[in-house]
Parts: sequence; C-alpha cells; structure tokens
Amino acid sequence: MLQVSTIQETRQALERVTGSVGLVPTMGYLHAGHMTLVNRARSENDNLVVSIFVNPTQFGPQEDFLQYPRDLERDLRMLGEAGVDYVFTPSVTEMYPEGFGTNVLVDGISDKLEGASRPGHFRGVTTVVSMLFNIIPADRAYFGQKDAQQVVVVKKMVRDLHFRHEVVAVPTVRDADGLALSSRNVFLTPEDRNSALVLSRSLFLADDLYDKGERDSEAIRFAMMALLNAEPRVKLDYVTICDAQTLEEKNRIEGGTMVALAALVGSVRLIDNVVLGSQQLT
Ligand code: AMP
Repeated sequence: MLQVSTIQETRQALERVTGSVGLVPTMGYLHAGHMTLVNRARSENDNLVVSIFVNPTQFGPQEDFLQYPRDLERDLRMLGEAGVDYVFTPSVTEMYPEGFGTNVLVDGISDKLEGASRPGHFRGVTTVVSMLFNIIPADRAYFGQKDAQQVVVVKKMVRDLHFRHEVVAVPTVRDADGLALSSRNVFLTPEDRNSALVLSRSLFLADDLYDKGERDSEAIRFAMMALLNAEPRVKLDYVTICDAQTLEEKNRIEGGTMVALAALVGSVRLIDNVVLGSQQLT
C-alpha cells in the first residue's frame, strides 16, 4: 500500500495503473462501516484508492472540526490489511492552498434536512468531492447510505457536472443493538449511547408499520415521536418522511420513501435513516 499526500504524487501514481479504479472517500477514524465500503470497492475494482481527509469546509464555525477524532496510524494499518493500493492523505493546505475561492454547490437539495441545520455543509462536501474526483478519476466511488442525503447530493453533482464516476451507495452498517456506526460514536458516554438506541428503534418501528400496510406519514411520525419523546437525553433536530430522491416531504407513502432523522445525544449530533420496505438507496 502506498501512502500519497500530494496531488502530484497521486496523479503520477494513478497514471501508471491499468484496469478499473475504485475510490472510497473518508474522514478517517475508520470503523466497520467504512471497511464495508472498502471491502466492497476492493471486490469490484482492479485498483483501490481510499482518501482520508477531515474536510474543514463541511464543518460550520460552531462545529467539531478540531475535535473530530483522528488516528491515522490505526487507519493505515486497517487499510493495509484490507488490501488497499493507495491511501491519499492530503493536508488542508494541499487541498485549499492560499487564495482558494471556488466552490461547487448543488442547488435545492443541499438546503434540505442536514443542509437546513448545517448551512454550507453540502457546499463543503460537493466542493471537496469534486476535488477528489478531479484528482482521482475513478470508475466507481463508494458512499454510505448512513449519509443518505450526501449520496443524493453527490449523485446529482455527478450527473450535472458530467463526472465519469459511478456513485455506489452501500447499506448502513450497525452495531448488533441497532446503533449506526459513526466515528462520532466514540464521544457518546455509556448513558448517551444507550439513549441513542431510540433513534434506530424509531426508524425500525417506522419500517415495521410500513410493512404492516401503514401509508400515512403522520401516523408513522406519531408512533416514532412517542418513542423519541420518551428519551430526555435525545434532543431531536428533525424527523422527515420524504421522497428518497428529491427529499420532498410526503404525506402519503408510495415507493422510494426515506425516513431520516437527526438528533443531539449528549453533546454528539447523530443522523440515521431507513428507506421504507427495508430498501436500499438506489
Ligand atoms: P466519514 O468518514 O464519516 O465521512 O464517512 C466516509 C464514508 O463512510 C461515507 O460515505 C459514509 O456515508 C460512510 N459511512 C460512515 N458510517 C457508515 C456506516 N455506519 N455504514 C455505512 N457507511 C458508512
């Protein structure tokens, strides 16, 4: 496995490769969720690049950019064992040199859900992902359904800006008790972690109700809120029942509906979602 930290080195290394290239963008502090993306990408491509970059522009001024967990040594060990070919670990100044001033923004859907709570977040995401796509002209790029809106926004960016990358969405990996894996889970106290289980439980309840034939969003929301409101440590930001492609709220549920939520649990902001009918994001 070769670690490359400059754009020039990365381009030179990739010029030499033959066959297909897969890319897994991450912010590091890797867990089994990331590794599922890595393993899937490994099995589908001749060459595999993983990037590790905690991207400052997708964090708001009051957010946890500086506190975001980092452990590069451990990450490199995990990626080496998984058979990754190249790890791209640029510095902030490599990606955003002095005088940087160009951004990529996907209109509309960037302002919904996470975008409404975290202004500028998706502008940072699409800007850095388009940089990564320019540096690493992969055939496929792998993203987790855990960040479902990110998948939707990046797919639209790829369509609109004619990137060559196929965006592959990978199902959310959870702990045995249902909690979606996240690098930020490390900041949950045992009590917080226990309370956080209500997030996935409420989403699974929504999916159950849907399976039993419920198609009225309000009825599903009402049942979810009864669970969520019973957990005082969980400060809900939003629950939405929306079209999985357009993210428009839906009153009646037909195909392709996602239930997504965000909440502060202790000091940690968590997000999670399901696509009703236990579907995958397409
Ligand atoms: P991050 O390092 O948090 O930016 O995540 C890098 C990639 O891993 C993103 O595409 C995430 O959606 C994905 N990811 C994070 N957590 C999970 C999870 N629990 N299951 C599946 N994918 C995940």
